[in-house]
Amino acid sequence: MQNVIGPMMSTPREFGSFQTAMAAVERIWGIMDEEMEDHPPQPMLAFPSVPQRTVIDFHQVSYTYANGSRALEQVSFSVPMGSTVALVGPSGAGKSTLFKLLLGLYEPTSGVITLNGQSIQARYAQVLRQQIAYVPQETFLFSGTIRDNIRQGAFAATDEEIVQAAIDANAHDFIASLPHGYDTEVGERAMRLSGGQRQRIAIARALLKDAPILLLDEATSALDTQSEQVIQEALHRLMKGRTTLSIAHRLSTVIHADYVYVLDKGHVVEQGTHESLFKNGQLYAELYRAQFQGARHAFPAPAFHR
Ligand code: ADP
Ligand code: MG
Repeated sequence: MQNVIGPMMSTPREFGSFQTAMAAVERIWGIMDEEMEDHPPQPMLAFPSVPQRTVIDFHQVSYTYANGSRALEQVSFSVPMGSTVALVGPSGAGKSTLFKLLLGLYEPTSGVITLNGQSIQARYAQVLRQQIAYVPQETFLFSGTIRDNIRQGAFAATDEEIVQAAIDANAHDFIASLPHGYDTEVGERAMRLSGGQRQRIAIARALLKDAPILLLDEATSALDTQSEQVIQEALHRLMKGRTTLSIAHRLSTVIHADYVYVLDKGHVVEQGTHESLFKNGQLYAELYRAQFQGARHAFPAPAFHR
């Protein structure tokens, strides 16, 4: 723990952004998971093992930051088991705050969040970590080999399982083509991987973790069409059989989501399928034009658009 907390405390300014903070959190989670190998959590902490229909439920959740910024106000939504739900909204809408609450980093100022019917509480943090695979916007790679970085998803994984996860994440080919393959050193002072390659490492980690719930914060940076397809394919494999909540910046994600919630200034302002929201011609349609239209060449245009 010392190694992780130390640098965070000594360079607070570097951890100003949410992504950086989340990377650090991811790292701590990883480390804590490792510690848990020696001290498995008590069974009494477990959520009910009986499958519930609603996996994630926000009931009138509000969150106000210490500086008075009202990030979420009376937000209610639910994510049924096995579904893919997309969150869309302009910058500052509260999307990242919502994820922080779900990851148990903050407690709601008011309202209730339940996971499999159980209220999320700090004392369930360990169980929360086992239930959720989180793919952040920016993948954090720590100093070590690619193999070690993938193994962060499940420390007990065998080398074979790591390779299989990389294959499913469409990462194996680029890893195998490196001179040192899976033993290639990556991280801050070693080899730099491209954004798309790092994302695929994050997907491999999540595949290895094999958690039932997936939180996906899509990268905003545009990728070329080919990388985009390779990543979409890997994400598709990852999402299969899981309940996914995704902060969507990609047209393909919102089109394929079962349901879309549109957030603005801390409120859920619209909800529905991509098609119904587009027809409504309100904020979603506006966002669609501003955010997604340029990416249209990469995807088939939805039928209503012709
Ligand atoms: P989004 O991810 O949709 O862009 P955020 O959840 O990051 O939105 O932010 C929602 C609101 O909360 C914004 O008004 C933002 O300025 C504010 N906010 C976010 N993080 C903090 C923070 N650490 N301290 C104070 N206000 C914050
Ligand atoms: Mg955000």
